[in-house]
Amino acid sequence: MPFSHDMVHSLATVVDLINTSPAAGTGEGLGSVEDLRAFVRRHVISGVEDLGADDLSDVRALRDAFHEVFVAPDRDTAVSLLNTMLGRTRITPSLAEHDGFSLHVHYFAPGASLAEHLAADCGVALAHVLVEDERERLRTCAAPDCSHVFVDESRNRSRVYCDSRTCGNRMHVAAYRARRRA
Ligand SMILES: [Zn+2]
Ligand SMILES: [Zn+2]
Repeated sequence: MPFSHDMVHSLATVVDLINTSPAAGTGEGLGSVEDLRAFVRRHVISGVEDLGADDLSDVRALRDAFHEVFVAPDRDTAVSLLNTMLGRTRITPSLAEHDGFSLHVHYFAPGASLAEHLAADCGVALAHVLVEDERERLRTCAAPDCSHVFVDESRNRSRVYCDSRTCGNRMHVAAYRARRRA
C-alpha cells in the first residue's frame, strides 16, 4: 500500500462510515446519536465535542456524498464530486500528536463539526488516492448480496470481497457447493 499511516486511518474511517449506510446493504448503522458517538470512539476522532441530531443528519448526508465518490463511474466524475465536497469544507492543516498516534497532519478547521472534520480529513485522503492514480483500489464487494465498500490494499490489487473471513469465505463455500452439484 503506497499510503501513509494517517491516510490509511482516514480511509478506514471513510470505509466504515459508508458501510453504515443502508445503501451498503446492512441497514442503518447510524440510527442514533449514540451510534454516532460509537463511530467517533471506534476511529479515535479527536476534537469532537457534544454531538446532536444535526450532526447525525449532516454525517449521514456526507456519507452519501463519500459513497458517490467511491462508486463514481470514472475518474473525472470522482474528481468533480470530491472537488464539490472540498470546496464546501473549511480546511486548515495543522500538525498533531494524540492518543498514541505519531505526528500527523489534521485538515479540519478549528471548531469544525464532526461532518466538517470528516469531510476535511477523509476528503483529503481520498484526494490523495486520486492523485496517486490509485482510484481502482476503491472497491465495492463482489458478493452478490453485499454492497460494502473497501480499500483494496493488496499489492496486486486483487481483492474482490469486503472481508475475506465473511464474504470471501461465504463465496468460496458457495463456489465449492456449486462445483459439487455440477
Ligand atoms: Zn489525529
Ligand atoms: Zn462483502
